[in-house]
Amino acid sequence: MKLARFLHDGVTHIGVVNEADGVVQPIAARSQGVDPMIAFIERQIEGEEPRSNGVALPLQEIRLLPPITAPSKNILCVGKNYRAHAFEFAGSGFDGSASRDEDAVPDAPIIFSKAPCSMAGAHDDILSPATMIESLDYEAELGVVIGKGGRAIPGEKAYDHVWGYTAINDVTARVVQSRHKQWLLGKSVDTFCPIGPWIVSADELDPEALEISCWVNRERRQHASTKDLIFDIPSIIEVISASMTLQTGDIIATGTPDGVGIGFDPPKFLREGDVVRVEITGIGALENRVLRMAPS
Ligand code: MG
Repeated sequence: MKLARFLHDGVTHIGVVNEADGVVQPIAARSQGVDPMIAFIERQIEGEEPRSNGVALPLQEIRLLPPITAPSKNILCVGKNYRAHAFEFAGSGFDGSASRDEDAVPDAPIIFSKAPCSMAGAHDDILSPATMIESLDYEAELGVVIGKGGRAIPGEKAYDHVWGYTAINDVTARVVQSRHKQWLLGKSVDTFCPIGPWIVSADELDPEALEISCWVNRERRQHASTKDLIFDIPSIIEVISASMTLQTGDIIATGTPDGVGIGFDPPKFLREGDVVRVEITGIGALENRVLRMAPS
């Protein structure tokens, strides 16, 4: 099942996407103030089937929104989780956690977060403040959406807690990351987390064999398989849930492969007008244009 949240005729819906027919079927959302997608996933875990609400709508007539807007906590992210990216980052001069090759690959998952206000829809613009536009970078990542919540989840049971998967672009302002010596501010800027285009339920994918790619305009910059993750999804869930209770609708960005802008010499940062495409096999694509935020 592919679950989308979208806008049609000024009304927000959630729905089941049928890509073959190019339509989305709106479904009943009884959210009562809770994030409607999280409420739906909770009911679905309890065995309730989706109930149609109105007629199917052509995908061309809707605007995709971030599938979930109010996770219980920040979007949890894994840093340096592909070997080749760990080396390119350590060599870039922007990595406060490692400057030597010997330290590049972490011994344990590096976990940080992005504020949920950074989320944007699959085709929304990435709006950069003028002060950040000289060092904007892209990071294509597989996103994990938690189904059944839990604390201290052992790795061997971790997949029981995954509802599905989505695509994420962990857009980053490198100068901010470098200046403030941490990753929150430069990654939590409004619109710096395109996510979607929808959530694909776990039964439809093998998360350990997905191809993940990123193009800037027509140039492919990133291409890898999720089998190359240093810390796999069960390890990540085990580590995070040892500290905090994971709840339905929590989102984990699993890290980006090599080929980010700072991996090039000189760096290939995003420029105003660029279109960034993040695509994951079996999930779909995000395509977002980079614009300079108008001064307010
Ligand atoms: Mg990242």
